[in-house]
Amino acid sequence: MSETLLLLSGDGIGPEVTAEARRVAEIVAPDLTIETGLVGGASIDAHGEPLSEETLDQARAAGAILMGSVGGPRWADQPRDRRPEAGLLRLRKELDVFANLRPAFCFPALVPASSLKREKVEGLDIMIVRELTSGVYFGEPRGRHTEDEDERRGFDTCVYTASEIARVARVAFQIARGRSGRLCSVEKSNVMESGLFWREEVTSLHAAEGEGVELSHMYADACAMELVREPKQFDVILAGNLFGDILSDEAAMLTGSIGMLPSAALGEEGTPGLFEPVHGSAPDIAGQGIANPCAAILSLEMALRWSLGRPEAADRVFAAVSDALAAGARTRDLGGDLSCRAMGEAVLGRLANDPSSPS
Ligand code: NAD
Repeated sequence: MSETLLLLSGDGIGPEVTAEARRVAEIVAPDLTIETGLVGGASIDAHGEPLSEETLDQARAAGAILMGSVGGPRWADQPRDRRPEAGLLRLRKELDVFANLRPAFCFPALVPASSLKREKVEGLDIMIVRELTSGVYFGEPRGRHTEDEDERRGFDTCVYTASEIARVARVAFQIARGRSGRLCSVEKSNVMESGLFWREEVTSLHAAEGEGVELSHMYADACAMELVREPKQFDVILAGNLFGDILSDEAAMLTGSIGMLPSAALGEEGTPGLFEPVHGSAPDIAGQGIANPCAAILSLEMALRWSLGRPEAADRVFAAVSDALAAGARTRDLGGDLSCRAMGEAVLGRLANDPSSPS
């Protein structure tokens, strides 16, 4: 396994928040080699393209990639394939990271920040596994018929192969086994052929390989409702690309600020995973030093756990963020007045105090 963490800070608040994650990495994994590279608008400015071959090679050789965020008004007029976001999409595609892990965890100290009542979110801990590289976002044919038609049309295709479903379902099985064992697979098998296929494939894979996993199924619309009615009924949720996108945003917002939300994108075992905050480049606050670095720090936590094989270091990071919040550390998005750097310092301070830190 490569012992290299590739840091792609990106644009806007990306460099600010990843700087704090880097400082945390240097404490909990001092032997890790940290490389840096450019992606998004920063890469357009330097190389004229949102992702260079050089950065791609660095990414392929790394153990994990930690990204900031890409995009901003400066590059908004570029053609679609030259926009900063195209760099991120290409990176995901080239690394074939098909399983998107989106935790929805409510830190005890942030319970009051949720839009739901305390009793609904206290102790909330859900992991959503979303298929990331197929489904309706990528299916062919897609396009528009605008000429020689009675009426203009726009269309997409929702398609999944058995192997695409199986590989992401296996990741969900593995994650469920490491938790309570409960896994809820979500689709619209009542109205979509691809949804029925999804349900059948997950069911038969579960019969063959699902030992230790308690599988249930739910329609996506019912799941959306249940997530706000009784979110704690869920442990691990498995969904295709479109429904996973929507449900993971919904679940995540139960937990407070977007500045707290990490994500992981994993490929086949032994290949580098891509870890990034859920938030974007936040041009409205970029350069002010007030962004919340916790999503980036928790994305590092996921990289240590899921790609770099360092669960103890990951546990230390998670505990340090939780303790810093419990001690009252808050950036503005959480109702406090700490700067991005000061929030990073608060987490680092907890790491220095934890019992496993070298004396
Ligand atoms: P955004 O997530 O950047 O910002 C939404 C709101 O949340 C803003 O008010 C912002 O100030 C706030 N916010 C976001 N992160 C925060 C943090 N860490 N701390 C405190 N407040 C935070 O979404 P947007 O404004 O829709 O998009 C801005 C740019 O980011 C666009 O160019 C978009 O394409 C890009 N984007 C990139 C990614 C990515 O890199 N993965 C994801 C989403 C959006």
